[in-house]
Amino acid sequence: SAITNHMPTAELQALDAAHHMHPFTNGDELNAKGARVITRAKGVTLTDSEGNQILDAMAGLWCVNIGYGREELAEVAARQMRELPYYNTFFQTTHVPAIALANKLAELAPGDLNHVFFAGSGSEANDTNIRMVRTYWAMKGKPTKSVIISRKNAYHGSSVGSGSLGGMTYMHAQGGMPIPDIHHINQPHWYAEGGDMTPEEFGLARARELEEAILELGEDRVAAFIAEPVQGAGGVIIPPETYWPEIQRICDKYEILLIADEVICGFGRTGTWFGSITMGLRPDIMTIAKGLSSGYQPIGGSIVSDEVAAVIGSGEFNHGYTYSGHPVAAAVALENLRILEEERVVDHVRDVAAPHLKAKWEALSDHPLVGEARIIGLMGSLALTPHKDSRAKFASDAGTVGLICRERCFANNLVMRHVGDRMIISPPLVITPEEIDTLIARATKALDECH
Ligand code: PLP
Repeated sequence: SAITNHMPTAELQALDAAHHMHPFTNGDELNAKGARVITRAKGVTLTDSEGNQILDAMAGLWCVNIGYGREELAEVAARQMRELPYYNTFFQTTHVPAIALANKLAELAPGDLNHVFFAGSGSEANDTNIRMVRTYWAMKGKPTKSVIISRKNAYHGSSVGSGSLGGMTYMHAQGGMPIPDIHHINQPHWYAEGGDMTPEEFGLARARELEEAILELGEDRVAAFIAEPVQGAGGVIIPPETYWPEIQRICDKYEILLIADEVICGFGRTGTWFGSITMGLRPDIMTIAKGLSSGYQPIGGSIVSDEVAAVIGSGEFNHGYTYSGHPVAAAVALENLRILEEERVVDHVRDVAAPHLKAKWEALSDHPLVGEARIIGLMGSLALTPHKDSRAKFASDAGTVGLICRERCFANNLVMRHVGDRMIISPPLVITPEEIDTLIARATKALDECH
């Protein structure tokens, strides 16, 4: 018989555990407790199979920027499916949704980032980037420039290529990663690793590790540096102000391509259209996904500079995905961008939501369990600590307190995520001041309950 929303939760959970393998989920935990069944969503609110109304302070996985339940996107998807549900963009064919979306992105992206290579996700887009930068240098007659420098604790996706770019050691430990010619330097995580340095000194020191790595590896071997403007999945790590200007200087000096992974920061998250704008970067390539379609359809891509596109376009780039520029995903993304623009959602983040949230979020640092509360735009983190003011970590079982806190949040109808003992948020960009007050009230109650 059909499996529907109307079935009892326990029955759905049993069927789920029997046949569905979940990403990034502990199987024993899943079997013991069962997965939460989300049945519908509207605005910033999820409904589960028990009828609970849950404020989603993670926008799904940092992606539902315009909020849930926008009919316009459903309409566009249905229309596009009827007209042209699928065609590819290989071998000298194209279609209107891909043309229109690429043109729109060229208009929105900063500087001379005017050309788009589509993918189905952020991971795929970063795999494209690995091949694109190596092909770029080979076509310029410098095939030895193949090393990509990334950062420890970065997240760039879960395919073997993008997982190698990422700096998550627990992923590398699965074997075969990182692939050759990927080099990781330290992250600019002052709270955890800054020691006695001021944030400014530390930001400079960590940026200079890029220069040291280039000199150690040899300038003639380094193709690119990749980083998230603000590290997201690593725990919302906002770099000291000295960090990015120094990185840009080093990339310019050694002619290293700069890849800004905007999968989270793109499309308004930090209060401007792209994290690169907020941080004052001039990337050669930007990785995009998530907020590009607000998660309504799977789509990602690489937006590349005139120079990179000219070199890559001078021959055949032997790369592409069946769903590169998928017409339904592209049409939905275009409609999402129309809504973001016409409803001035990025202005709402900058002028209304982010200032309102910032004041209340930073006040959470007064809580006995919170060592640091930081936020930029609508992405924020709380460092949980056993000893306030000393930046101390919990001695054993790192992440246990974070996990308990996440569970207390959920019990209070709030989705916050934990990364070890950091609590993080990234709510839909359309969140109202009243909803922010609810978020803060529930987060405070959860913190109180796990103290
Ligand atoms: N890059 C960043 C910065 C991300 O945060 C993510 C996903 O969280 C990815 C890439 C991978 O994107 P996807 O899960 O769509 O493959």
